[in-house]
Amino acid sequence: MRIVSARDGGLARLRLIGGELSAHAAHAVARAAVRCGSGVIDVTNRANLQLRGIRDDAHADLIDSALNAGLGPQAEGGDDIRNVMLSPLANHATRTLAAGIIAAMQNDAALHALSPKFSLQFDGGESLAMLDHTHDVWLSALDGGARFAFGLAGSMPHRVEHAPALGSVARDDVVRFVIAVLHAFLAEATQQEHRMREVLARIGVARFLAALSFDAACTTWRRAPSDASLRLGAHEMPEHDAWYVGAQPPLGRLDAATLDALADLTSSHGQGRLIFTPWQSVVLPGVAMQDTQYVISRLDALGLVTDPRHPLARLIACTGSAGCAKSHADTKADAHRLAPLLPPDTHVHLSGCDRSCAAAHPFEVTLFAVGTGRYDVHQQAQCVAHDLSIEEAAAWLARSHADA
Ligand code: SF4
Repeated sequence: MRIVSARDGGLARLRLIGGELSAHAAHAVARAAVRCGSGVIDVTNRANLQLRGIRDDAHADLIDSALNAGLGPQAEGGDDIRNVMLSPLANHATRTLAAGIIAAMQNDAALHALSPKFSLQFDGGESLAMLDHTHDVWLSALDGGARFAFGLAGSMPHRVEHAPALGSVARDDVVRFVIAVLHAFLAEATQQEHRMREVLARIGVARFLAALSFDAACTTWRRAPSDASLRLGAHEMPEHDAWYVGAQPPLGRLDAATLDALADLTSSHGQGRLIFTPWQSVVLPGVAMQDTQYVISRLDALGLVTDPRHPLARLIACTGSAGCAKSHADTKADAHRLAPLLPPDTHVHLSGCDRSCAAAHPFEVTLFAVGTGRYDVHQQAQCVAHDLSIEEAAAWLARSHADA
């Protein structure tokens, strides 16, 4: 487990396979978060968890707790490369195939040389999937999961203007193919090249693909659209055998007591597991239809958001100055101040500096902090207003919304 230093103490990342955390493991994480740190738990935009405020003398305790809860890697040195994103509603067959990829990656010591930032996305074609993040390698089901389209250094094509898939492989060949791609990447990459886009920019896609075996005949394929609002509220599971309920912890942040309560709720009214999502939200799968309103009421009572129209479902913010020395402002506190002023249908990202850690894809509007409580407003990569207070930024957003 990687524990790095932050302004508010150690920051420990727990990688969750496909965002999944059993109720048992969730209780263990909640206990460890309090015993070893501040009890603050962030959901990341890669559907992992980060525990904050970890004391220097508690690193070994935290690592033991994670391993005992079954959250560690299968092989020493394999933690960082388990960087595979899955769709939150991925079914058992898709999760099993993804687990096969992750196990093969961990058990191949040569692949431990991959950068921790090297990322893969594996998608079963579900109606809820993050399609805007770019990945070094992505695969998405076609023909009902009999084959998987793939692409490199980009995101899954879901609009006509997107670069098409490069080809496809049969389901039975997926694990072998992914491992071959990763070895090909490491064989081509120079010491300065850590991401697929860097290698492809130098040698070209055709040369990279030359040694790989796949079917090239799916270049007109487009991924069916995803509806991000399906992450919140009650909806039928893709297999139509039960329902799920999704909720957003405000600004992706939980405390240990809330994680405990979520674990209890999925044990009593779900499948005993939580699925965290790249929207920094959580899904409770396998809820009986007649229980969904009760589960929603419990989530609301815990302070989570279950309605996609709620302002806190339309705001993200990085850690901010409370936990990051680079931040010019307390972005999370400012986002809470902005929430009641946010115009309808407006999605805003607050960033403490220009690194934009909280947003893994371009946002409609980003407020970049320039000082305590003050922000430049950026829209479509252009700075459109300078040095505004939160109230002034809210007024700017309201005018922009009225003009749209
Ligand atoms: S975006 Fe900047 S200020 Fe915010 S957490 Fe990242 S590095 Fe820190």
